[in-house]
Amino acid sequence: MTRGIQALPRYLIERYKGWRATTYDANKAWYQRLAKEGQRPRAMVVGCCDSRVDAIALFGAEPGELFMLRNVANLVPPYQSDNEPHGTSAAIEFAVRDLGITNLIVLGHAKCGGVNAFVTMKDDPEREIGGEFIGTWMKLLDPVYDRIPAINDSEARSRAFEHAAILQSLENLMTFPFVAAAVAEDRLHLHGAWFDIGEGTLHHYDAESGAFAPS
Ligand SMILES: [Zn+2]
Repeated sequence: MTRGIQALPRYLIERYKGWRATTYDANKAWYQRLAKEGQRPRAMVVGCCDSRVDAIALFGAEPGELFMLRNVANLVPPYQSDNEPHGTSAAIEFAVRDLGITNLIVLGHAKCGGVNAFVTMKDDPEREIGGEFIGTWMKLLDPVYDRIPAINDSEARSRAFEHAAILQSLENLMTFPFVAAAVAEDRLHLHGAWFDIGEGTLHHYDAESGAFAPS
């Protein structure tokens, strides 16, 4: 047996049993059809790992509807063809090329720990992000830092960076040849959205005004 692996925590087993007795039982025929026929999600959401960002609940989605990818700060790296493992890019490739999703949403959120750690680090290089991986990952936002003007209000400044991070990911998405081709042929639409759980608000990027607007 591999060391360090234990049985699931009791409370998760209990919750699973609750799901099985209620949600599963009520939807059994539909779930069996999903299993048999395979998934055909229309949309993909790239969201943050943050436990408060639940796109499934936010969009009232059922199993099979949303192809989900979550990573730290909902970032999409630029296209890089180097035969190294790229988890985010692999998920995007599968969603666009194999599943043929028609909508791809980059969903940012208020009080994003990743984005704010990045801003703190850039403001004061002495305050490097600790750990081995997060700092390097957050450097994907380097191009964004100088684009944000000085904003005194710290909440407004955080929001500006959270919005800019979404736009950077959308820009990076277009560096993937299969994404650019699907967008050019109108098979795929890209979207930016930002969610604040405290206020219960969702903002979306409006290409005409070039800004985020309440949805
Ligand atoms: Zn976050």
